[in-house]
Amino acid sequence: MTYSIPLSGPDITDRERQAVLEVLNTQHLSLGPKLALFEEKMAAIAGTKFAVAVNSGTSALHLIVRAMGIGEGDEVITTPFSFIASSNCILFERARPVFVDIDPLTLNLDPGLIEEAVTPRTKAILGVDVFGHPADWDAIGDIAKRRSVKVIEDSCEAIGAFYKGRPAGSFGQAGAFAFYPNKQMTTGEGGVIVTDDEEIASLCRSMRNQGRGESDEWLQHTRLGFNYRLSDIQCALGIVQAERLEELLAKRERVARWYSERLGDIEEIEVPFVHPSVSRMSWLVYVIRLSEHFSGEDRDLILSQLRGKGISCSNYFTPIHLQPFYAGMFNYKTGDFPIAESVSKRTIALPFFSNLSEEQVDLVVSNLRAVLGKLLSTRNLVQS
Ligand SMILES: *Cc1c(COP(=O)(O)O)cnc(C)c1O
Repeated sequence: MTYSIPLSGPDITDRERQAVLEVLNTQHLSLGPKLALFEEKMAAIAGTKFAVAVNSGTSALHLIVRAMGIGEGDEVITTPFSFIASSNCILFERARPVFVDIDPLTLNLDPGLIEEAVTPRTKAILGVDVFGHPADWDAIGDIAKRRSVKVIEDSCEAIGAFYKGRPAGSFGQAGAFAFYPNKQMTTGEGGVIVTDDEEIASLCRSMRNQGRGESDEWLQHTRLGFNYRLSDIQCALGIVQAERLEELLAKRERVARWYSERLGDIEEIEVPFVHPSVSRMSWLVYVIRLSEHFSGEDRDLILSQLRGKGISCSNYFTPIHLQPFYAGMFNYKTGDFPIAESVSKRTIALPFFSNLSEEQVDLVVSNLRAVLGKLLSTRNLVQS
């Protein structure tokens, strides 16, 4: 179905079109000069020494896990409330994702629950800056230090965010950003590893390029690698988007404010929470939560009625442990991570992108109010 108001959308201008065209007029469609320039911009955004661009955020996370030598028999502590790639990257290397529940306000890993999940097999804590809200990195870092495990930052939803004045992407031994078109900035498809660790950077650089070493000939392969390269066409697009990142984030923040101004007084919903430790939220999505009086069925009804009005919306996220193959592989069941489950039943991601107009926000809000009102009135009739 096509919606009159989509859930997300890229913000592409003539600058991006021009930059892509320029690459098409050269001989360097991949591994050319745009790659290094794009990586420079990414390292600057994360405040890291190195950046290694790859073809998706998922690839970035996979290479980080692999570069850290995490493998069969190892455990990585992570959140069940995320996009599935943050956990799949652990499975790719036959290690085990060990979930711990989330903080009900920030929706990120609850640091108070992490330490009891650490075992002698734990190799890393993989935190996610969910919806663009940084996790509690100081608390996670303290535990990691105390227990001698590594930290991986899945910042695929939070490029440009700041936690206690420091940039997202800089909090682990390595971090990842992603550039699918629903993200704050896009390369069509793409991702990047950001790190201060020279060895991780150099391993990732080799593994994205079929395991070639820095000085290898084209057909010499030092280690097992992948083709996770990002083309110069995509890097050229990414360079312009990165140069526009402040503008893109400011536009998104403005849309978030429009929503919060209009929704803040509705008793049945909670608008997104931003913790005081967050010096800048990088708005990926605008996700409201229905109050505890609503069931998962109520939420799904609201989603389908909004969609019926041409307004795209979604249920970010179904907890990862309840995804069919995770539940099957690890015997997870409903009730294992009650906060993630309770939150995920009541979320509604509303249309959200930088060029959403104030009129469109008004339209979404008036439809949401109408749908909520209708649901409440039928409920009152049933009750009386
Ligand atoms: C988008 C995203 C990724 C990576 O996505 P790709 O589509 O592979 O670029 C990873 N983790 C999280 C939390 C994400 O939101």
